[in-house]
Order: sequence, then C-alpha cells, then structure tokens
Amino acid sequence: LVSRTKKPEDTIVDVNGHKIGDGHPSFVFGPCAVESYEQVLAVAKSIKAKGLTMIRGGAYKPRTSPYDFQGLGLEGLKILKRVADETGLSIVTEIITPSHLEEALEYIDVIQIGARNMQNFELLKEAGMVNKPVLLKRGMSATISEFVNAAEYIISKGNTEIMLCERGIRTYETATRNTLDISAVPILKQETHLPVFVDVTHSTGRKDLLLPTAKAAIAVGADGVMAEVHPDPAVALSDSAQQMDIEQFDKFYEEITRFMNTH
Ligand code: PEP
Ligand code: MN
Repeated sequence: LVSRTKKPEDTIVDVNGHKIGDGHPSFVFGPCAVESYEQVLAVAKSIKAKGLTMIRGGAYKPRTSPYDFQGLGLEGLKILKRVADETGLSIVTEIITPSHLEEALEYIDVIQIGARNMQNFELLKEAGMVNKPVLLKRGMSATISEFVNAAEYIISKGNTEIMLCERGIRTYETATRNTLDISAVPILKQETHLPVFVDVTHSTGRKDLLLPTAKAAIAVGADGVMAEVHPDPAVALSDSAQQMDIEQFDKFYEEITRFMNTH
C-alpha cells in the first residue's frame, strides 16, 4: 500500500493544517528530550518566531544504556501539551510501547516511532489503528526494504498518514555517529508515495555537519528536515554534544532558508 505503483500521487500529511509533502520542505526542531517546561518553552518560542509549526522532544527516551536519562514519561507529555496550548505548535514525540499510545494521544499531534522500534511490529500495528500522523524513523541497521515494510505494517492497519525519516545507518565509519544514507531519500521518493524527512542530528552526531547535510537533504528532494535544539546543550540530559543552541539554530535556519530560496 505504500508503493508508488499502487498510488502514483504524493501523500500529503496534514498536521493541524500544516501540509507535509506538498513541495515545500517542512522542519521539525526541538530538544532531544523534554527536561522542563522552561526548557521546552525556550525552544518553542524560537521555533514560533521563525513561523514554523512543529516542535519535537522526547518524553520517553529509548537510551542505549539503562543508566542514562530515560525521559520524564507522562510528565513530559504534559509539558509538551502545555507548551503546545500556549504557542499553537504541534507536538512530535516518540512513543516506545503500545501501552503508552492511547494515553499519549490526548497530548500529542504526531507519533514518532524511533530507530530502535522500527521493527516493533505490535507498536507499528497499534500506530496503524489510530487517527494521528506517524513519523517513522529508519532502524540503524535496517535496509530500505525493511524500512518500507515497517511503513507497510502501519498503513495495512488503515493509517495512511505516514512520514518516513532517514536518520543514518550503522557502518564502519566513525567520523560521524551514523552514516547518512542520502540516496535513501530519492529511492524512498521513487518507491513510495510518502513524505521523506532527514534527521541531520542523529545521522551525523556533529553540529558542524548539520547545515551541509540539511542542504543535501533538500537538494535530493527531502520533504522535511529534523534537527535538535536545546537552550543550553552543555547541560542537556541527552545528546549534549550534538544539539544546537538557540543562536546556532537561528543561524542554521537563516542559512537553510537562504539555500532554499536560491536553489
Ligand atoms: C530521537 O529522534 O529522539 C531519537 C532517539 O532518534 P533515533 O530513534 O533516530 O535514534
Ligand atoms: Mn537525540
């Protein structure tokens, strides 16, 4: 059902009136994890000032180590909702288990399914049965075909509002955190009718590569770019080294919009 041969026209995902996949790149910025109301609000104000409509932030953090910050859970969802109510932004946040899904729905606008859960088939099926858009991230060791099949799990249950997100794959290269598979973008655009995002933060893990990889993403036809922003990355409880501060975010956004306007 996700195949372009079954549906030649692009799927346009609607997030509270904001259209994703209509030819104008969309942006999802926000902190790695929700840490406090003040932290989320600071980023939200900066997003809002740019005329953007979505904010990300993890309340449930699937961390590699059990000793790392696991997120605020429901409390984090409540913080996101409060900021959304005050700013009008739409919330993109990761859900890691089917048992959290129903409760989360009243707080969030887009269900993110993370790389580590790309083949959590029960979660995919549950997300397929709800009436909210899903942003599905590619597993770090998933082939494009496996990624497409994960989206198929969602759509096969009825939910057609799916966005794919390339976020880097695991290779022997250590210069970047993951290897951004840029050719996945045009392949996914050719083979499916779904909007495709590129997460430049988790793919590179390097602040100095966010702008060039975002440009590359847009140049190869991505429908959106995701990147992490934190008011004070040095004290962030997760992904401290790779999040932009607000000043870097302003500069990043200025440069990427200039790039879009001149290409
Ligand atoms: C995230 O976007 O917060 C995240 C954990 O990314 P990924 O699932 O791609 O590792
Ligand atoms: Mn992160």
